[in-house]
Amino acid sequence: MNQQQQSAAQAHINKYWGTKNCPCCGGYSFTMHPELAVAPTVHEGREIDLNKGTPLIVMRCNRCSYSIFFNGNTIGVF
Ligand SMILES: [Zn+2]
Repeated sequence: MNQQQQSAAQAHINKYWGTKNCPCCGGYSFTMHPELAVAPTVHEGREIDLNKGTPLIVMRCNRCSYSIFFNGNTIGVF
């Protein structure tokens, strides 16, 4: 992600995820991965198209590495 996309994603996450507590370890510190993850799309024929997918913003707990994803398409970052 470029700096503008990271800033927009961080603003959205801060608006809707106030406490940022980790559901795994209870920690409160997360780091946004600078690159996107992509969840591949599964079509009606149950074939996975590796060329298409949903862009995901990855937030990783700094204590236990549990990761949470936000949909980059629907929050309007991409
Ligand atoms: Zn954690």
